[in-house]
Amino acid sequence: MSDTDRPGSVPLLDQAQSRLGLMLADIQQLIEVETPSRDLDAVARGAVAVADIVEARLGNRPEVLTVQGCTHLRLKFGSGPPRVVLLCHQDTVWPRGSLQRLPFSMQDGVLRGPGSFDMLTGLVMAVHAAGLLRDSAGEAALDGVCLLVTGDEEIGSATSQELILETAAQARAVLVLEASAPGGALKVGRKGGGIYSLRITGRGAHAGLDPEKGVSALLELAAQLPAVTGLADPERGTTVTPTTFAGGTTTNTVPANATVAIDARAATMAELERVDAGLRSLRPSHPGAEIVLEGGINRPPLERPMAADLHADYVRVTAELGRPVPDAVEVGGCSDGNFTAGAGVPTLDGLGAVGDGAHADHEHALIAEIAPRTAVLAGLVARLL
Ligand SMILES: [Zn+2]
Repeated sequence: MSDTDRPGSVPLLDQAQSRLGLMLADIQQLIEVETPSRDLDAVARGAVAVADIVEARLGNRPEVLTVQGCTHLRLKFGSGPPRVVLLCHQDTVWPRGSLQRLPFSMQDGVLRGPGSFDMLTGLVMAVHAAGLLRDSAGEAALDGVCLLVTGDEEIGSATSQELILETAAQARAVLVLEASAPGGALKVGRKGGGIYSLRITGRGAHAGLDPEKGVSALLELAAQLPAVTGLADPERGTTVTPTTFAGGTTTNTVPANATVAIDARAATMAELERVDAGLRSLRPSHPGAEIVLEGGINRPPLERPMAADLHADYVRVTAELGRPVPDAVEVGGCSDGNFTAGAGVPTLDGLGAVGDGAHADHEHALIAEIAPRTAVLAGLVARLL
């Protein structure tokens, strides 16, 4: 290879730019499949489309891993355990038929369509970043790289979590191609979360004849809520939010049952555990009422130190390519990067599309950012290998 072809040199930007047409075609193809997470057949069809693109661009077809009916894809280069994992998902939050209302389009430098921002553009960027390295130095340039494309990220990754952890177990880096934060910022911290259900049992009674014989689950629920929300710590960014609730049977019965769901988020595992312990120590305040807590910590936080070194590498590669260095921010939402960071594997997130509107009708990606960020990603992978 000539000096100008070496990954990390400025021509990497030109090489990425020359792939833009292909990348846009690949993104369109994936958007037009439609892959809502809970539709397993749709996710399987999406996986075929992804596998076709991977095979066309990288010369190898990924292995298909089906877990409880959900299709995931993995392509490892080299014989050893993966050292750099490119982590993507191809499921979206969009129900089938959304495409009719929000068709794929490209206008004024903006690409639109369901899943364009979260995260089909990022997925295609990962494939082409690997393609850039392969073009410059053959398949040996990808030794140690693993592309993992899951199908259930948007619903909590129940069937892919183990696969993600196993794939990344010996990696030195997990690069998550989720959409960037506003302005193209990288995600160097993500809150972790817990999901709980507080079930309250009282005693039913006729509200007219003998209400005094009842124990109101609703009043007990109301009594618990200040203690629940009191576990939040705004200064630390810890939130504890009662969300859905239900209870009672008829308008003339003291309610015997009530339930409230609780969404807890925190930036550190210590905070999540503090909230968890607090919820578990709740005790009934009305004689005769019982409370049971279900659920627990769901995704650990991506704590900032887990991303620090990779972020420094990203900044260096960006500067070498003469590109403006994006901001780095901490965000509230979870991704599969939470799992790998929680397991102690360095993880950098938000490497995918620049744009806005995840899960919203105005979802879009900026076309001008796709090739340059793909070049930076390729340079980063080469550096990490
Ligand atoms: Zn996503």
